Amino acid sequence: MYDYVIFGGGVVGAAIFNKFVRLGAKVALLEKELDVATGASKANSGLVHAGFDAETGTLKAKLNVRGNELFEKLCQELGIKFKRTGALVVGNDEEKLKELLARGKKNGVKGLSIIREEKLWKLVPNLRHEYKSALYAKTAGLVSPYMLTIALAEEAVINGGQALFGFTTKKIEKAKGCFKIYSSDKRVVEGKVVINATGAGYNDIARLLKAEEREIRFRRGEYYVLDKCDFVNLTVFPLPTKLGKGILATPTASGNILLGPTAEDILEFDTATTMGGLENISGSITAMFDNVPFDKIIREYSGVRVSCGDDFVIEWDKKAERVVDICGINSPGLTSAPAIAEMVAEMVGLRGQEKKMIRRKGYAVKVKGEIVCRCEKVGKNEILSAINSPLKPCTVDGIKRRVRAGMGKCQGGYCLIDVCRLIARERGIKLEEVNKEHEGGAVMLSGGKYE
Ligand SMILES: Cc1cc2nc3c(=O)[nH]c(=O)nc-3n(C[C@H](O)[C@H](O)[C@H](O)COP(=O)(O)OP(=O)(O)OC[C@H]3O[C@@H](n4cnc5c(N)ncnc54)[C@H](O)[C@@H]3O)c2cc1C
Repeated sequence: MYDYVIFGGGVVGAAIFNKFVRLGAKVALLEKELDVATGASKANSGLVHAGFDAETGTLKAKLNVRGNELFEKLCQELGIKFKRTGALVVGNDEEKLKELLARGKKNGVKGLSIIREEKLWKLVPNLRHEYKSALYAKTAGLVSPYMLTIALAEEAVINGGQALFGFTTKKIEKAKGCFKIYSSDKRVVEGKVVINATGAGYNDIARLLKAEEREIRFRRGEYYVLDKCDFVNLTVFPLPTKLGKGILATPTASGNILLGPTAEDILEFDTATTMGGLENISGSITAMFDNVPFDKIIREYSGVRVSCGDDFVIEWDKKAERVVDICGINSPGLTSAPAIAEMVAEMVGLRGQEKKMIRRKGYAVKVKGEIVCRCEKVGKNEILSAINSPLKPCTVDGIKRRVRAGMGKCQGGYCLIDVCRLIARERGIKLEEVNKEHEGGAVMLSGGKYE
């Protein structure tokens, strides 16, 4: 019997899981996929926003600013990289820049200023000189969104939380002050309070809980990933429009460059990349920058923003008792996640001193012996330590997100099969049973060919 059962292992569910364990609660995290961070939390810009963008007075504004404040300490405790590199919104409409500055100040964002010409061009040498002004936000930063999610969940598990993967909920019964949750593979979990943090899957769980179903909208964002280079050293946005923050160029926490995201309203959840979307990125980036190193593109991907009205929804369900609804967590949801966890802890009455946590060790075993991923220089020992890490990841993408094997120039062309072999050996399964990411998504066909 758990005090709390959290549905959804994205950054929001993982942050709540971690916070609740820190506050001494007995918590289970139920994730339908085989690992955490397989939804929006793996496919975004990885920006810890400063907080000038959201409308003053909204939950988004409040939680963005608070989340940003929490990042340094949290990432230090979790042993993951966080870089406060700053961000710029460039545009010659000074009125609009001043509006953003004023909104940022109202939201409580520190370190905002407007910079011009030489100072701006020095910060972004590849920016076209027709851009003469920018809002500079000193407190914006970079984090790996999936490493943050993984680290939050790992620390929770090391300290007594339970994470169950491949958990497809079939039925939920309510009896005597508790929920009885049944999975399709006959696991049963009981909990007193449930938290629905399933992102795009919100209504599936709400329906089973007989809780409030909500109108959800999807907006896809496509990206190009560039190999590590110094095209930009901080995040550069154009002026925002009603579709969002616009197509930006940013370094990632690992030193790659991202160009994107687009903003396309779609009817159903779909993470395809499209010719139109990618051309849109090239066009927008070429309009802002000179010397764009398109020859360094190594990958493209897309993520889907889930919205429900204009603001985040974080509230007690109005139809079902003891259910917390978390819905419409689009940008700045990554930044806000630590603050959302604080807010939900407060809502359920979990207060007081955090317990002394055993900190995660990570998998940064110094490369020695055999190298498996040549592009990212990942050793066999690192891969083995990731496979045997607290969440027991069993997919190729799970290993990739932990130690970067397959993230480099060749995108796994050389190392994929060796990673599969190591997973198969450690899990005691056949090579053709190793999934790329999803259940049933085997990397190898039984004939020994790649999927
Ligand atoms: C293109 C794009 C760019 C973005 N850029 C930024 C940014 O730079 N900075 C920022 O702060 N925010 C950004 N965001 C927003 C941020 O990515 C999201 O707010 C955040 O990842 C949402 O996390 P989540 O946990 O709510 O959702 P998700 O990460 O989608 O997690 C939901 C989880 O629930 C699981 N699930 C679904 N159904 C079920 C079920 N029935 N049972 C159990 N589990 C289930 C899913 O498998 C998934 O793991 C961006 C988003 C997108 C799409």
